[in-house]
Amino acid sequence: RAPLLDVADLSVKLQVGGTELHALEHVSFSLGYGEARGLVGESGSGKSLTLRALLGLLPPNATVTSGRMTFDGAEFDLAGTSRSKRRRLERLRGTGISMIFQEPSVALNPVIPVGEQIVDAVMRRDRMRRAEARDYAIHLMKLVGIHDAENKVDAYEFELSGGLKQRVMIAAAVASKPKLILCDEPTTALDVTVQQQILDVFTDLRDELDAGLLYVTHDLAVVSQLCDSVTVLYSGNVMESSADLRDMFDAPRHPYTEALLRSTPDVDRIGRRLYSIPGSAPSLDDRPRGCPFAPRCEYRHDDCEEARVPDKSTSSGREVHCLHQVQQGVSRVALTKEAR
Ligand code: ATP
Ligand code: MG
Repeated sequence: RAPLLDVADLSVKLQVGGTELHALEHVSFSLGYGEARGLVGESGSGKSLTLRALLGLLPPNATVTSGRMTFDGAEFDLAGTSRSKRRRLERLRGTGISMIFQEPSVALNPVIPVGEQIVDAVMRRDRMRRAEARDYAIHLMKLVGIHDAENKVDAYEFELSGGLKQRVMIAAAVASKPKLILCDEPTTALDVTVQQQILDVFTDLRDELDAGLLYVTHDLAVVSQLCDSVTVLYSGNVMESSADLRDMFDAPRHPYTEALLRSTPDVDRIGRRLYSIPGSAPSLDDRPRGCPFAPRCEYRHDDCEEARVPDKSTSSGREVHCLHQVQQGVSRVALTKEAR
């Protein structure tokens, strides 16, 4: 079966002052029906821009310079700005694809009861009587863990806690029965207990809906809990991708992935000793020509800085943009010596 979503060669540039910044470079990944893929990267790596590009929701100073998307059998050219192209993408929103944003307040209307907003989302998809849609909205609110949904359905956004608002957002996002849900760090604004409850909601929804989930986060522990597959972004470039998350967590091949795992305390089996990656990510106007991670990489060779690194993986379902991949079992010290 062809994948639900296939994104190929997505590049986005930003116009800032007089300069052009290449915010995303040749980003590719795919997602099967019912699959959850984590899109992981540090702050500024391009996660939000990637999600927004898929729905034509980029900021006005951004341009998609290349990119193709196949969604549920239909092909979309993401590049360019023609109105008809934009309109095709816009039509996907709220029907085939739903997006859940980091900050629920910006997405909920303050003057309409939250239940009404879920009802509207339901009716966008299914022709049914309003009373029927309201019953379905209450069902969805219960599904996302709002136990007194009969009362909360008439509440306004400002009457709800952050965790409840995020649950309402999720209910509204799944109300239109999307085939794909895009999540942009939906739990970062919440405290840890509520975060865990929301993650449980996603896990339940995955079983119930068979929708694809593209889940953006900087938190590898969240990804390991929720996702089947994973794509690691660094400075607008895919470093490593794996169809099987465990494969990559057990044996990272890109030095950046390895460093990221070593610096994550919660992921089991890894990070016995907490590590901090030296240096900082390059700014967009000063990215090295070759591998963007090269200046911080312990395995760096001279050729790393020469040209863009193509996918060097030999196994299917894996994508590794590194010329000198981490070899499992070889001691770091020995390898570093050999490299010098
Ligand atoms: P975070 O984890 O902090 O949300 P992110 O991975 O979502 O980060 P993006 O928002 O996709 O990062 O931004 C990628 C890069 O592009 C960052 O360096 C950001 O500063 C820059 N950027 C994003 N939007 C704009 C804009 N409208 N104008 C200028 N620069 C932008
Ligand atoms: Mg972001």
